[in-house]
Amino acid sequence: MSGARVLVIEDEMQMRRLLHTTLRGRGYEVELAATAIAGLDLAATWHPDVILLDLGLPDRDGIEVCRRIREWSRVPIIVVSAREAEADKVQALDLGADDYLTKPFGMNELLARLRVALRHMLPQQSQDSVVRFGEITIDFQRRQVLRAGEELHLTPTEYDLLRLLVINADRVLTQRHILREVWGPGYQEDAQTLRVFIGQLRRKVEPNPTQPTYIRTEVGVGYRFQLPAESQT
Ligand code: CA
Repeated sequence: MSGARVLVIEDEMQMRRLLHTTLRGRGYEVELAATAIAGLDLAATWHPDVILLDLGLPDRDGIEVCRRIREWSRVPIIVVSAREAEADKVQALDLGADDYLTKPFGMNELLARLRVALRHMLPQQSQDSVVRFGEITIDFQRRQVLRAGEELHLTPTEYDLLRLLVINADRVLTQRHILREVWGPGYQEDAQTLRVFIGQLRRKVEPNPTQPTYIRTEVGVGYRFQLPAESQT
């Protein structure tokens, strides 16, 4: 999406310069903020299409910035964190951040994540559409799943879990988020239940359940459904 507006909130000057050069070179419009306060101002006044938010900022916690922006905006937020700040990253995702990058990251990885985040801004596909990947066809209107043309029996919970993953394809979902959405607010710490159901689903939809290509584990965070590029909706 050439011309999309990227707000970079990052206190390290070298990193800001690198991001500025890279993103401008790819046709993005870029604004830079070195502090949380400056970032919050620009988020409100410049109307970015996506925000790249470093969690380690000098004046305010990046988590706080994420929470404040989510009070009034659904703009995609990609959080950037150091490897030792795993808990912060998960907390930011639980607060509504869309994705994360762990420092150090490659520019190609960053550009790929930006494209995904911007794609999710486009108007949502209708909920009754049919999604196909590999041998699997999901008809959301009929709550029907086929594998190689044969009906695949899923329990209601398995279906709800698969649906949540698929409609959020390419996005990372935290364990808490998935548990809250599928099982309800009282279950959001029940990681063991989630692991069991993910295992069941993989056995039903993955070509090789021990090396999943669709339902990917994001270690320490949750899961990401990877829709292959050629799939149709
Ligand atoms: Ca920092």
